[in-house]
Amino acid sequence: MTQARIRPQRQSITVSEARELVLASAHPLPSETVGLTECPGRVLAEDVAADISIPPADNSAMDGFAVRAADVSEVPAELRVVDDLPAGRESRKPVGAGEAARIMTGAAIPEGADAVVMIEDTEPLAGGVRILATAEPGQHVRRAGSDVSPGTPIASAGDALRPALVGMLAAIGRTAVRVRQRPTVAVLATGDELVEPDRLRDDGRIVSSNSYNLQAALKEIGARPVYLGISPDEPDRIEDRFRQALRCDVVISTGGVSVGDRDWIKQVLAGLGGEMRLWRVRMRPGAPLAFVVAEERPVFGLPGNPVSTLVAFEQFVRPVLLRMMGHRRVFRPVASAILERDYRKPAGRMHFVRVSLSERDGRLHATPTGDQASNILLSMVRADALAIVDAEATRVAAGTPVPVQLILRDDLREDPGF
Ligand code: AMP
Ligand code: MG
Repeated sequence: MTQARIRPQRQSITVSEARELVLASAHPLPSETVGLTECPGRVLAEDVAADISIPPADNSAMDGFAVRAADVSEVPAELRVVDDLPAGRESRKPVGAGEAARIMTGAAIPEGADAVVMIEDTEPLAGGVRILATAEPGQHVRRAGSDVSPGTPIASAGDALRPALVGMLAAIGRTAVRVRQRPTVAVLATGDELVEPDRLRDDGRIVSSNSYNLQAALKEIGARPVYLGISPDEPDRIEDRFRQALRCDVVISTGGVSVGDRDWIKQVLAGLGGEMRLWRVRMRPGAPLAFVVAEERPVFGLPGNPVSTLVAFEQFVRPVLLRMMGHRRVFRPVASAILERDYRKPAGRMHFVRVSLSERDGRLHATPTGDQASNILLSMVRADALAIVDAEATRVAAGTPVPVQLILRDDLREDPGF
């Protein structure tokens, strides 16, 4: 590898410009067929329509008696019981005038009957039943095909496989489904100062926490991390790791994208081919972002400070991965919350402020979780959301509503309040 240092050409761009540029490189991965128990969290790669009716036949919504509504237009009415129908048993005897069949929820309505009277509205008689309440035709009858019938569209490519959809697929008799592949993502830490957590000694070195926060963030969305460990700040060693990393669908490195003496990422990425870009994204935290498409794979050089890494992952890497996985919605939801404290900053960069959220009087309130420096991981640990303060703003007064990007999937309050 050439040893001449390349002077970083830092193009300054906005968050939305950077997001658009990286998303332009994100293409859905090929599809694969997986069994129903493997598919939760994946994204459909096919359209699915029903080819059967559910329910398959008219059936009872209640435990009670299947009757002819005309027989119970005046009550009490005494009917002869001609059959007993638990769920799953097919009826053999039609229900004639003056007759009823004892029926359980889910059992098919016998021929001749057109309504069900629930058991609470009846009294037993020897060999029969006394009906105490009138019934309209169709009462407590679940119609064949009232859920789906042949041709009903159920889901389309791009839909996430949530539990209800997985259940629906099972209900129509599917045992497997076509989904997008999950991307493998190489995670590489760079930095002479870094060690693994089990090598932490009192020698001034620090743990590569990014190795773990990134793997966790990847697992959260169903991507498959491939951890390549820590590389020292030596360009040849870093390049070797990147070449290994290109066996994965996406590559993420952290550290070494600043302008320090040992910041080699830009030079290494330039050597991988493709147009190497180094952006000073107008945001805080998370400013420098190196990006190249090498061998058709997006390769991200994220900054080293843990919160910069995570915020850059949120804004740029996560949407790319979700798009590759076939998701239609690739951004975190954004809500509006009232900022609880004054916030001041210089104009020029968009700030992502780590906040906790609470709900009062039907409104969300956002409270900064502590020191907002990009190396302070604890304030990120405590954050439910990132409050967004516009690049040009210099002050947001307490009490002002701000957009908050929800980075937590959990509900805001544990007590459902109902
Ligand atoms: P760099 O961009 O390499 O100058 O790193 C910026 C800061 O982030 C330095 O204080 C590094 O020690 C720290 N840092 C870099 N990589 C990691 C990592 N993998 N885990 C935790 N901190 C890191
Ligand atoms: Mg470094």
